[in-house]
Amino acid sequence: MVMNTSMIQRISSLLHKDFTSIKGEPHNPTVILNHFNFTIETINRTNMMAHYCPNKYKIYLNQEKTPQTQRMILAHCLGHYILGHKYPDNFPEENAKTLLLGDYREIEANIFAHNFVMPEKEVRQYVRELKDVEEQARIFGVSQKIMIKRFKDLGFYLNI
Ligand SMILES: [Zn+2]
Repeated sequence: MVMNTSMIQRISSLLHKDFTSIKGEPHNPTVILNHFNFTIETINRTNMMAHYCPNKYKIYLNQEKTPQTQRMILAHCLGHYILGHKYPDNFPEENAKTLLLGDYREIEANIFAHNFVMPEKEVRQYVRELKDVEEQARIFGVSQKIMIKRFKDLGFYLNI
């Protein structure tokens, strides 16, 4: 099933609501993946971001990536799970450039990840509080590059 952005945004915000009351860490993909019985193992010496194994409930995460990138890739994998994407085990998660050529599931998982890690409501609230890209990137635990993309996607003009 192909979903539009607002459906994915809604799913992400419902998940936040659930986990705010249950776990108190609504933005942390690891906590939520663990809640759904996923275990995260580490790999290195690969050019992949991760290998996603939905049937074994495992994610092999590339330890050589920055913590900020690891957070986004885990949120991306959580998106696959929450949005019901069927994949065989050991599915290689590549970088964003190759994703552009990928299928709708990869795009949906990215939309989910952005909404999940940097919820629109919170970004807008922080903008009202005059928190800039640098500060918001720190708050949400993402790279400045990803934060800039989020600002632009939400229609904020940035002179950079
Ligand atoms: Zn993916």
